[in-house]
Parts: sequence; C-alpha cells; structure tokens
Amino acid sequence: MGEIADGEAASSQQQPKTMGRKVLDFFMNDLLLYLTILAVLLGAIVGFFLRQYEPEPYTIYVLKFPGEIMLRMLKMLILPLITCSLITGVTALDSEASGKMGSKALLYYFSTTILATILGIILVVIIHPGDPKAISADEYNVKPNAFKGDTVDAMFDLVRNMFPDNLVQACFQQARTSFKAVEKVDNETGNVTIVYQQDGVEYANGMNVLGLITFCICIGVVMTKMKHVSQPIITLIAAFNDIIMKLVLFFMWYSPVGIFFLIVSNILKIKDLASTGKVMGMFIFTVITGLSIHFVITLVGLYFVFTRKNPLVFIRNMLPAMMTAFGTASSTATLPLTFYCLEEKNKLDSRVTRFVIPIGATVNMDGTALYEALTAIFIAQLNDIEMNLGNMLTICITSIAASVGAASIPSAGLVTMILVFTAVGLPTEQISLIYTIDWFLDRFRTMINVMGDSFGAAIVYELSKAELAKTDEDEAAAADGNQSKLALEDERAEEQV
Ligand code: ASP
Repeated sequence: MGEIADGEAASSQQQPKTMGRKVLDFFMNDLLLYLTILAVLLGAIVGFFLRQYEPEPYTIYVLKFPGEIMLRMLKMLILPLITCSLITGVTALDSEASGKMGSKALLYYFSTTILATILGIILVVIIHPGDPKAISADEYNVKPNAFKGDTVDAMFDLVRNMFPDNLVQACFQQARTSFKAVEKVDNETGNVTIVYQQDGVEYANGMNVLGLITFCICIGVVMTKMKHVSQPIITLIAAFNDIIMKLVLFFMWYSPVGIFFLIVSNILKIKDLASTGKVMGMFIFTVITGLSIHFVITLVGLYFVFTRKNPLVFIRNMLPAMMTAFGTASSTATLPLTFYCLEEKNKLDSRVTRFVIPIGATVNMDGTALYEALTAIFIAQLNDIEMNLGNMLTICITSIAASVGAASIPSAGLVTMILVFTAVGLPTEQISLIYTIDWFLDRFRTMINVMGDSFGAAIVYELSKAELAKTDEDEAAAADGNQSKLALEDERAEEQV
C-alpha cells in the first residue's frame, strides 16, 4: 500500500504542471502574505476615510473587536509555544552545542543593540529635530504613570524576574519593586517634599517571560544530561510543540482580518492628526530614518556577510511576521508567525529557531534601544539642555538596559524610557509628549525588533552548522549503537533457546 502511494506521488511529481496549477500553487503559497499586506493598506485607507465621519468612541470600540480577538488568539499560544519550543530546542542539542549557540546569539544581540543605539544618537544629533522654539515643552508637563525607581531598581527587577519564586504565577504576573511615599523636610528651609522609598516587592499583571525562559533552559539542560530517563518527556513536549505550530498555521488565516480592524481602530483613535504631525514631524522622520538605516545597513549587511544569501528572499518570506508586528505592535504576539516564517518559509533548522527566538523576542530589541536613546536626546534638545559625551554614554548604556528590560508588548519602550530620562536628569513628565505618536512609532520599532531576532536566528544557524552536524552524527552513532546492542541481545537470546 505504502509503495503504491509512493509510486503515485512520484509519478504526479514528474507530470509537468499546467499553467492553472502553477497559478493556484502561487496563490496558495503566497495568499496569506498578500492578504496580510492588503489588510495593512486597506486598514490605513479605510481608517483615514472614516475619520471624516468622526465616529463615536463606541463605534471605535466595536471596530476594534475583531482585532482584539486576533490578539487573544495569538496570546493564547504564547505560553505553550515559548515553553515547548525552548525545551525542545535545548534538548535537541547537547549542552556544549547549546552553550556555543547561546553565546553566539548573545554576542549578536549585544552588538546589534549597541550599533542601533549609537546610530540613534548620531542621527538625532545630526538632524536635530528638537527645536526649543517650536513647542512649549511645558504644555506637556502632565505627570505620566511613572516608574518611581532608578536604574538599580530596574536591574533588580530584571534579575528578580529571571528567578520567579512561583512558576504558576510567572505565567501571568511579574515582580517589581514597590515604593512608598515619604515626606522629607528640608532642615534649612523647612520645605516638605515627597520622595519615594523602596518598600519590598509587588506583582503586576503580565507574563514573566524572562522567568519562564530561565526555567525552560535549566530544565532543558538537565533533561539533556539525563536523556535515559527524560526521553519520554522530551518526545511528549516535542509532539506538543508540533501541535501548537499546526494551531498557529490555522489561526494565521484570521490574522489579515485582525490586522485590518486593529489598524482602522488605531487610526480612528488619534486625536488631532494634523497638529501632532506638524509638531512631531521631524522627530518621526528621524526615528523612521534611524530604524530604516539600522535595518538596511546593519541587519541586512550582517546577514549578507555571514550567510552570503540573498536578503530579499529572506525578507520576503518574513513579510507575514513583519505585517503582524506592524499590526499588533508586540513582538511576543508576533512570535507564532516569526516561528512559522523562519521554519516553514526560510527553512531554518528548528533546533536553532526554538532556542534563540524566544530569548531574542524577550531581550533583543534593537528598535526600542535606538528609539529610547534618540528620544532622550530629542527631549534634551527641546528643553535646550546641553548633553556632553558622558551624558551620551549614560544614555547609550541605559537605553540598552531599558531595551533588555522592556516587555515585548505595545508601548513597553515608553515605560522603560523613564530609566534613561532619570539617569541623565531629563524631565520624565515630558515623556507624555511622545505619548501622542508612540502608537505609530511602536509599530515600526516592533518590526525592527522582530527582524533583528530573525536575522540573528539565520546568522546563528549559519555559524552553528558544524555543531548541528556533529549532534546529528552523535545521535546517528548512538542509534546505531542501540541497534547493534539490540541485535546482539537478540542473538544471545536465540543462542540460549
Ligand atoms: N512594542 C515593542 C515590542 O513588542 C516594545 C516597545 O515598546 O518598544 O517589541
């Protein structure tokens, strides 16, 4: 039966494809891609068209609903996807190979993030979008819901979250420093000011991805070392991972609908498009130029240097993930599509993608780092505050830290930006000036964040081919060894009979 089926498959492969078949194949392979691009374009057109009717908040709320459902579908898959993919990724390699792959990935993440930050600083200094006469920054002195700590608190929170004290809670909450307000009296003037003091730890809603990553890597390494007992669990988790990927494929067909409605509702929500554009036009231009240069020169350049492959093919295959990043403004929500595009379209080894992509989506955010550094200097320019080399270095370091600490969710970069501002003494209240346009810029930087991880996976794959081949050989040898051991045991049993 198997032979007949194989024979049929072979003969159908030999038949030349008709024109109709080719067209059908073309559409079936790329249909999702075209639908996603169409969704973004149509969403923008319909959004701008509907603005003239000034829809009620309730209408916008209803229009957002299909988009909200898409986000819920994607988010539903994140927990099983991250945990299963990391465990299968780590257990598919021996500990030496995963160690080497991990250090290559970290080196890539670190160097591209530094390059992005430096580029952001250079561009904002050259273009100088912040004209102090253009706007009165004081108008925007609305106190945002600010993070009250400093860089040390943020770093403590990062490490705290790496080691969650409760794994179940880590699936939906993160730890953060809590503060209490205390009155401080100035002995000389008698003035009373309110200062915030650390007051232990509190929990805020949101998945603690970093904690889950630590746990999965640790458990994966131990499982690899104890393969003789852990093999059934490894097989089970790998099977579950494949099932989740199938589910991703299924849900993906809904993503064009979701993206369309998300973009329409977001465009309708903007308050005053023209005046925001006029005031912030140069800033938006600088950010988008920076992100584009980082994409074209740094990311594409590194990809080409290391792989010697056509980057356009790689980018084209990544388009559904890029469009989803644009629509959702969240690298985590895009994860299912990132995996799909890398494994199914760009044919990267799943042992690499499963290992490096979940980590990259959490800690590697080139777009966010560039944006934070650039924005800090922009605000300094607006307020006519001189930034010396030391300040620039501080901005560079804190922007990298802030991008690592930022969650991969919409506008997370805006929250961690407070760190950068505090480090160089910029007025944190003025971050609210950026609020008006962050929804827009977030989409671009999320695309760059996702592409930074994806190019990274391709480069790590290219550099790890030797280790992967060695793992394959070792496994084949182990399988051979097992078989000959079994054969020997059979022979002995027969002899005894
Ligand atoms: N939205 C970004 C992301 O998910 C994070 C940020 O706000 O910069 O990658």
